[in-house]
Amino acid sequence: MKKYNFNAGPSMLPREVVEQTAKAVLDYNGMGLSLMELSHRSAEFKLILDEARCLFKELLDVPQGYEVLFLGGGASMHFCMVPYNFLARKAAYLNTGTWASKAMKEARLFGEVVEVASSSDKNFSYIPKDFEIPGDVDYLHVTSNNTIYGTQLREDIDSPVPLIADMSSDILSRPVDVSKYNCIYGGAQKNLAQSGLSFVVVKESALGNVAREIPSILNYKVHIENGSMFNTPPTLPIYTALCNLRWIKNQGGVVEMERRAAERAGIVYDEIDRNPLFCGTAVEENRSLMNIDFVMAPGYEELEGRFAAYAENNGVVAIKGHRSVGGFRASCYNAMPVEGAKALALCMKNFAKEI
Ligand SMILES: *Cc1c(COP(=O)(O)O)cnc(C)c1O
Repeated sequence: MKKYNFNAGPSMLPREVVEQTAKAVLDYNGMGLSLMELSHRSAEFKLILDEARCLFKELLDVPQGYEVLFLGGGASMHFCMVPYNFLARKAAYLNTGTWASKAMKEARLFGEVVEVASSSDKNFSYIPKDFEIPGDVDYLHVTSNNTIYGTQLREDIDSPVPLIADMSSDILSRPVDVSKYNCIYGGAQKNLAQSGLSFVVVKESALGNVAREIPSILNYKVHIENGSMFNTPPTLPIYTALCNLRWIKNQGGVVEMERRAAERAGIVYDEIDRNPLFCGTAVEENRSLMNIDFVMAPGYEELEGRFAAYAENNGVVAIKGHRSVGGFRASCYNAMPVEGAKALALCMKNFAKEI
C-alpha cells in the first residue's frame, strides 16, 4: 500500500531527493567516495554549497545586499543569534505560539522585548491583527507559520520597522518580499532537507549595529565573511537541500509550490468542514496551508483512537496532533503530492460511513 507521510518535522521530502541523497552517501558522482567522507573544503563540496546558495537566492528572489547562509544548529539557535546580532536596545515580537514564545524568551537576554500581541488567550488558534508596532524598536519578529497550532501569516506584513521571521515550516512554499525583512531563518527539517541544518537570509547592512561583543560562532557577519564555512557545515544536509532546491525549480518554483499548497489544503479543509465527525482548530482566515490541525467534533471525541488507527491502516501516516492541541495534524509540505491530501480526505469520508 502507498504510504503518505504527514510528519510535522523531520518530514517528507520528494522521493527523488531522498534517492539522490542515498546515492551520494554510497558514491558521490562516481568518485568511489561517500559524500559524507569528503572535505567541506573540497572542490566538489564547494560546487554543492555555491549552487545551493545561488538556487535559494533565485527561488526566493533574494535582492542584492542579502546573503544566504547554511549553518548547523537548527531554528532554535537563531532564537538566540537574532537578538545577539540585531537587538541593540528594544525589539517587538508577535506571540503566535510555542516557537514565537521561545524566540521571545531568548531575546529578553539581550534587551527590552515588547510583545505586540498574543493569541495565547485562545490557545494560539488565530493570528492577532490590528496590533500596534512601536516605531522605536530594532525589528518586529514574526513566526510565519505556526507548525504546532496550524496558523499561518500568508503575507509579508507592512511594518514601520524591519521584519525578522522564523520561516522554518513554510520556507519556499510561497513567494516572499524579502526586502521587508532584515533576516529570515529556519530549521531545514520541515520543508528543505533533513535535520541538522538551518538556513538564514540576512541583510548585510542591518548587521553591525549592536555594541556588544558577539562570539564568532554566533556572529552572522563572521559566517557571511566565511561563506558558511567558518566551521564545518552539515555537508550531507546541504546536499539534500540542493537536490530539493533543484526539484522545486524543476516543478515550477515557489509560485507552483504555493498553488499546490492551496490545492492540497483546500481538499483537506473542505472535508473537515463537510464531515460532521471533525472540526478544525484554527480560525478559518488564519488556517495554515502547511499544517492542518483538526480534532474530533464535540460528541465524537471517543472516536479519536479509532480514526488514528483507521488512517494508519489506510496509508495515512503520522497525523497525530501535537500534545498542546491534541487531535490530529496533517503536515502538507512542498513534497506532499495532491494524492496524499485526497487519500486523507477519503479516509475521513470513509471512516464516517463505516462507523
Ligand atoms: C520546528 C520549528 C522550530 C524548531 O526548530 P529546531 O530546528 O528544532 O530548533 C522553530 N520554529 C518553528 C516555526 C518550527 O516549526
